Amino acid sequence: MSTPARVAGEAAVGEVLVTAEDLQRRVAELGEEISRDYAGRSLLLVGVLKGAVFFLSDLMRFIDIPVEVDFMAVASYGSATDSSGVVRILKDLDAAIEDRDVLIVEDIVDSGLTLQYLLRNLGSRNPRTLEVCALLTKPERRKVDLPTRYVGFEIPDRFVVGYGLDYAERHRNLPFVAALES
Ligand code: 5GP
Repeated sequence: MSTPARVAGEAAVGEVLVTAEDLQRRVAELGEEISRDYAGRSLLLVGVLKGAVFFLSDLMRFIDIPVEVDFMAVASYGSATDSSGVVRILKDLDAAIEDRDVLIVEDIVDSGLTLQYLLRNLGSRNPRTLEVCALLTKPERRKVDLPTRYVGFEIPDRFVVGYGLDYAERHRNLPFVAALES
């Protein structure tokens, strides 16, 4: 029987698509842009576990307005590489978001189905504003059109790992984003 760790061991980290330097530069730009856009207000960042944790913690250090953080964990039914849009909440937010300025922080938007679910779910809790900040997006894979206010990088239709993104829980610790080669 093949364990997840062994499966991960069989896939190799390939071409680097976003370098560590480019990640740090763009994350700083996004933090400054967000600080300008929300000046005079306080912001609640909602991180989607686990992949967005790395991006969120770096991004937060470049936000210079009052900011709080909360987390959600969701599981999307589907195959290893295709989400179905049917999403289950594994961990909900700790606090209510009514009348708050909420920014969802996502690692990657692929089909957009997970984000569509999150926008509907959090939108129904009556936040004052609800926007999205995604580190990566794969426009070629998009199935639903979504308002993604802040985007780090557009990448081609490749399965990527690193900077929080995993394959069978491996490779999150890479400081860059690379394509996975099977
Ligand atoms: P979507 O619902 O947009 O199709 O999928 C979003 C989720 O699928 C992401 O939050 C991420 O967990 C996972 N995902 C999509 N593309 C990739 C990828 O290239 N690499 C990794 N590691 N996860 C991905």
